Amino acid sequence: MIRFDSVTKGYPDGTLAVDNLSLDAPSGQISVLVGPSGCGKTTSLRMVNRMIEPTSGRVLLDGRDTASIEPAELRRGIGYVIQQAGLFPHKTVLDNIATVPLLLGRSKREARNRAAELLELVGLPQTLAGRYPVQLSGGQQQRVGVARALAADPPVMLMDEPFSAVDPVVREQLQNEFLRIQAELSKTIIFVTHDIDEAIKLGDKIAVMRVGGTLAQFSPPAELLSR
Ligand code: ADP
Ligand code: ADP
Repeated sequence: MIRFDSVTKGYPDGTLAVDNLSLDAPSGQISVLVGPSGCGKTTSLRMVNRMIEPTSGRVLLDGRDTASIEPAELRRGIGYVIQQAGLFPHKTVLDNIATVPLLLGRSKREARNRAAELLELVGLPQTLAGRYPVQLSGGQQQRVGVARALAADPPVMLMDEPFSAVDPVVREQLQNEFLRIQAELSKTIIFVTHDIDEAIKLGDKIAVMRVGGTLAQFSPPAELLSR
């Protein structure tokens, strides 16, 4: 479980991005942070893997204060997916994914086998394995980004508007594939979106944030809809 315990983040210029946020993102579930632009979603997400440090409060991962875990160690257990897939442009699709198991000390053959498995998991044909990122559609690039984030088999995934840059038809496909993969893998996921429909479709629990960085509500989608 990921626990935000009275977490506040103020930026040096005085912006209060996150204001006393407390919530528990349960293990094996998708917790969605939703709210308008600027309400502190990305800041909250990045405090989980210590890309951003809280001004006060704590973020706990399975009961451990993340402040006491080296960022490099912490990030080995946390996949991170952003809106633009952020692929290495000079590496093929397969090598983009295989880089991760290689870094973790697997052999070349193991890394390539793992990458091929992940391509299949995210619904990409093996015929794309030798292409470079520029030769892929936006939706295909996002799939590779998800595959790369899964390559280390992290128990936790942080996803920041991962499907927002693609057209609505592809977005729906990606959402459906994401739910299928999650049903299989049961990761602990925090998913950021500004789209309430996406939040309701994907979230086991939904944290509604307000501008000013406060939490308005944290509930399952059914309770959200009933208000
Ligand atoms: P995201 O939710 O992924 O951060 P946004 O479109 O909300 O995407 O924000 C894009 C960038 O603009 C972010 O880096 C964010 O910090 C910044 N930003 C968001 N809201 C505001 C705002 N109200 N004023 C100034 N900058 C903002
Ligand atoms: P969201 O992801 O919901 O769009 P962000 O977490 O990106 O929101 O931003 C929350 C608030 O913090 C916004 O007002 C944004 O402008 C501000 N902000 C984000 N990053 C910085 C920064 N590096 N310095 C100052 N203010 C920032």
